[in-house]
Amino acid sequence: MKYSFMSEKKNHQIEKNDIVTITIEDISNNGEGIGKYNGYTLFVKDTVVGDVAEVKVIKAKKTYGYGKLLSLVSPSPDRVKARCPIARQCGGCQIQEMSYESQLRFKEKLVVNNLERLGGILPCTYELEPIIGMEEPWHYRNKAQFPVGVDKNGRIVMGFYAGRTHSIIETKECFLGDPVNEQILAMVREFMEENHVSAYDEEKHTGVVRHVLIRKGFHTGQIMVCIVINDEKLKSSEKLVEKLYKFAGMTSISISVNREKTNVIMGNTIKTLWGKPYIEDIIGDIRYQISPLSFFQVNPVQTEKLYAKALEYAGLTGKETVWDLYCGIGTISLFLAKNSRKVYGVEIIPQAIENARENARINGIENAEFFVGKAEEVLPEFYEREMKQTGQKPTADVIVVDPPRKGCDEVLLQTIISMEPKRVVYVSCDSATLARDLKFLREKGYEVKKVQAVDQFGHTVHVETVVLLSQRKPDDVIEVEIELDELDLTSAESKATYKEIQEYVLKEHGLKVSNLYISQVKRKCGIEVGENYNLPKSKDSRQPQCPAEKEKAIKYALEHFGMI
Ligand code: SAH
Repeated sequence: MKYSFMSEKKNHQIEKNDIVTITIEDISNNGEGIGKYNGYTLFVKDTVVGDVAEVKVIKAKKTYGYGKLLSLVSPSPDRVKARCPIARQCGGCQIQEMSYESQLRFKEKLVVNNLERLGGILPCTYELEPIIGMEEPWHYRNKAQFPVGVDKNGRIVMGFYAGRTHSIIETKECFLGDPVNEQILAMVREFMEENHVSAYDEEKHTGVVRHVLIRKGFHTGQIMVCIVINDEKLKSSEKLVEKLYKFAGMTSISISVNREKTNVIMGNTIKTLWGKPYIEDIIGDIRYQISPLSFFQVNPVQTEKLYAKALEYAGLTGKETVWDLYCGIGTISLFLAKNSRKVYGVEIIPQAIENARENARINGIENAEFFVGKAEEVLPEFYEREMKQTGQKPTADVIVVDPPRKGCDEVLLQTIISMEPKRVVYVSCDSATLARDLKFLREKGYEVKKVQAVDQFGHTVHVETVVLLSQRKPDDVIEVEIELDELDLTSAESKATYKEIQEYVLKEHGLKVSNLYISQVKRKCGIEVGENYNLPKSKDSRQPQCPAEKEKAIKYALEHFGMI
């Protein structure tokens, strides 16, 4: 590692505005490169693992800081030139300068690491299927929501938010979205200028047009435009319709009123100005109606692969009772319905459930039933009601969950466990909350069998994951016992020395543990530690007991070394 004018400084003296040269060795969950300067960790946006970079420290905390990339001393072999000229400023993409191959490696590692670090799930305990990448990682999004505002000269700007801010960067051409977006935006801008319709000012909470939502059915070519406004109605809206309705594929033009001071983009209601209140698209052989407020996966090509995997993991034979929680417009539900006896879908947005029911109807599916409400309320209520009415607890063969980023509520997870499904299929867009929820399910009798990451969001740090969990059967325990019998206990015991365990715990959890504590935990886990090793001298003598946090960390280490 080389440094510029830092020769006199010790690592802990790193200060704001220092300039250092570092090698980028890792990548954070947000896509920032991570490098060390004499042991001091720096996070640097726009760098790639393998870069040697000259960096200016812009924020210095005690043990870590943030740097700004000044220049590349030697670029990483994984580095590529960004296609988009504003890739670094725009918050839409975070890792466009990484080759697509290395993006996939990063995403898979992110999932595996989160499962291990946050869920305590060791990679050797499940089957990791190779990440499914995109064949064409550009122009894959079927939806865009452009914020509208004014620049300092009072000119209308439409585009994307700069990373972590609400300042809008004008976009000429976005490489993730469909090229029709820019043409439609230009028409909306023209309409606003010609008819003196103002743009929203977020700080003052004044002005009218807040966002433009554009969605396109990739298979059907149908287009939806929804203008989100901070007013009860859009003046001269007929002029907007006049401009847009002849555009090839235009199917639905609407407004959504959102007068709140909020980051939430859409209002609660939609008024159709022209055409249908929805567009249609096709996944597999199912046709879906999608209204502006409904969730629909943004990458239709990868979604097909994602749902196929969810269906495969569900292992249906046609006889099962299945729940699809967080079902949106019934996308996964209808796939499941074709292969099972009965599917129940639950979703919080009423318009999405309207779509789901209609989608079942237009596809001739009669064995799907949908409920509006929070999954964590609908399922427990259903459970209680059935118990009261029939005196028996309701069960399910398979339960699929596909929650938003915050994951599942514990009340819901508990009800899932009570319903004793043979399999749970967890579809997740945030592997951190996924890990938390899997930990809970594992503690209550489920085991993680298979994990599949699917890249739905190339050039961003996001990744979708499908996990198959199955109910641990009593048989499994017997199996393990047989294996244990065959195991040479002395070799299990000698897998890691006390010193190795101490080092592992320190490295992974930052905790120092004594030999005494390790022996206590080993004993608790049924590992032989020698009859009198570290036992109290007499029954009355007091010995410090390993605190819970350290016990947990030691158990992870024992698990890591294959000792339990
Ligand atoms: N499975 C669907 C939707 C997944 S996105 C698909 O693949 O298209 C997550 C969905 O959960 C969204 O439709 C969102 O509206 C819904 N949602 C969010 N919180 C919820 C809750 N507490 N209960 C039920 N649905 C919820």
